[in-house]
Amino acid sequence: MQALKEKRIVIVGAGPGGLAAAMQLAHAGYKVTVLERADRVGGRTSSIEMNGFHFDCGPTFFLYPRVLEEIFQSVGYDLMKEVPMKRIDPMYRLTFGAGGELNCSADMDDMDREIGRLSPQDVGQLRKYMDDNRHKLERFRPILESPFRSPLDLLRPSVLRAAPMLRPTKSLGQELGRYFTDPRLVIAFAFQAKYLGMSPFQCPSLFSILSHLEYEYGVWHPLGGCHRVSERMAEIATELGVEIRLNEEVTGFEFHGRRVKEVITEQGRYPSDACVINADFAAAMQRLVPNHLRRRWTDKQLGTKKYSCSTFMLYLGVDGAVDLPHHNIHIAKDYDQNLLDIEQRHVLSDDPSFYVQNASVTDPSLAPPGKSALYVLVPVSHMHPSLDWKQQAGPFRERVLDQLGLIGLGDIRSRIEVEHQITPADWQDRYHIYKGATFNLAHNLGQMLHRRPQNRFTELEGVYLVGGGTHPGSGLPVIYESSRISTKLIRTDLHRSGT
Ligand SMILES: Cc1cc2nc3c(=O)[nH]c(=O)nc-3n(C[C@H](O)[C@H](O)[C@H](O)COP(=O)(O)OP(=O)(O)OC[C@H]3O[C@@H](n4cnc5c(N)ncnc54)[C@H](O)[C@@H]3O)c2cc1C
Repeated sequence: MQALKEKRIVIVGAGPGGLAAAMQLAHAGYKVTVLERADRVGGRTSSIEMNGFHFDCGPTFFLYPRVLEEIFQSVGYDLMKEVPMKRIDPMYRLTFGAGGELNCSADMDDMDREIGRLSPQDVGQLRKYMDDNRHKLERFRPILESPFRSPLDLLRPSVLRAAPMLRPTKSLGQELGRYFTDPRLVIAFAFQAKYLGMSPFQCPSLFSILSHLEYEYGVWHPLGGCHRVSERMAEIATELGVEIRLNEEVTGFEFHGRRVKEVITEQGRYPSDACVINADFAAAMQRLVPNHLRRRWTDKQLGTKKYSCSTFMLYLGVDGAVDLPHHNIHIAKDYDQNLLDIEQRHVLSDDPSFYVQNASVTDPSLAPPGKSALYVLVPVSHMHPSLDWKQQAGPFRERVLDQLGLIGLGDIRSRIEVEHQITPADWQDRYHIYKGATFNLAHNLGQMLHRRPQNRFTELEGVYLVGGGTHPGSGLPVIYESSRISTKLIRTDLHRSGT
């Protein structure tokens, strides 16, 4: 039998899922190599730097740190000491094109006052919503923390206990309608479906736990940005003995039957007793696993699946201070139309919803003195033949800059000192994300639990998935959870096989 420390695990990708798996597997005694195609760690949770301005590429909301805290603890570190975080409260300002705004706080008395200004008859309903979702989260936690392999797993006692709360025929929007009469309040507690890249009116009602997580456990800002979490994870993984190789793209696998024996890059071949794929699931299948080895996730099948929306991004280093809170979300006047444009019509909205992060107001380390780092995210359709980003990126940038006036920014064009843009075409071509769908496979019930690509990947042997494309889903807390699930499976399998 091979000694534990001789068992080799190769991880494809140094995103949050890959890094969390690397830390845990190295701590468990395996020899771990992480191969990363980019020149830095973090994937979508990495950094963008320009002339002293620091931006998060993707995630800016750090929610429910509990999962990562437990992972850090399990390998002998304290997350909050390694990456100090600040709880942001008020959490964010929501402005409605239809009129009105909400300064959203975890303080329920403040929220009653805010809600009372929009809709007096809805005061008190948030407390009821929170109580119900506290209960719901407790019921669902065991489901999110364990692997799903087959429909039989739906008969587990934990699932049966949670089932009555699933309301499979209801959307998140409909679920919120049980609590709030004012449509703006329905959106205020349902727009979080966009964290999964979905319309609240298509997203399953289960995800009411998302806004609950914000209000119950807080919205956190890791000092230095969310990418600091990825960077510190990579440093800790290295301290634990992991070898992280940057600028080294995996180009394929050497198979014996369905077992991955070696992971191949241009620089070398890496024998593996277990291989963990963190790269975007659908893109990795297309690029790395021959179609004939796949039964359920063939290229054709992948083409028929539902995918999340994409995002149009502007990263703006601007002169002077910006009078906005840390997180700002603007909801289009005709939100239904905006959602239809994204999910069904695949066109760019005239009046898009958007999000602006003004992080330097909390964390001056992100911009040179007297300047501000603004991050602008606009949810848009994933790649579709009706959208040509070569043609549309320029005009859409202008439209987005105009939109910023709606939250009181005025025309900031003359203040922009540095600028970076990412379009859905960039997410697809430069970041290797299938259809540029930044939040992976959609989270409809037909693509969740045992119907999502499984953590122990059933198409191949000795291959495990981590990240937003596998169970439990997209979003940092559940991505970290996927690494915990896959690590446990690998330990069990390698122990059993004695390889
Ligand atoms: C714009 C945006 C905003 C987001 N905001 C939030 C937020 O606020 N809060 C939140 O919780 N989540 C958010 N997310 C969602 C999610 O948390 C992040 O996308 C997260 O980084 C996904 O992690 P991952 O582990 O799935 O992999 P990724 O971050 O995608 O990392 C995968 C890694 O694999 C590498 N790779 C790919 N192919 C290869 C190959 N062949 N060889 C070697 N390496 C390869 C990639 O370069 C990358 O580094 C956001 C996402 C985006 C895009």
